[in-house]
Amino acid sequence: MSEQIIHKDSATGLPVGTVAAFLNLSSALVALYAAGTNSYGNPKASWICLGCGKHSHIAKELGASRIEANAHSAECRAIPWPQAALV
Ligand SMILES: [Zn+2]
Repeated sequence: MSEQIIHKDSATGLPVGTVAAFLNLSSALVALYAAGTNSYGNPKASWICLGCGKHSHIAKELGASRIEANAHSAECRAIPWPQAALV
């Protein structure tokens, strides 16, 4: 199984192409970010939780990924973990 590579914006710590962020129950962000287009040219997106690290396995259409990201933010209790550079 290959590791998903997610490029992050050094200024925000969010994935490059983030289009929305959801706040989980413990104030960690779940970032929804652009991930290309489907065969019809419609935007696709993926998501990652910056609290627990869980992420989508495949990019889906924006609306479907948005629902998944929002659902995860509503159930996740992971706290935001300090970045190594900030310690
Ligand atoms: Zn989480």
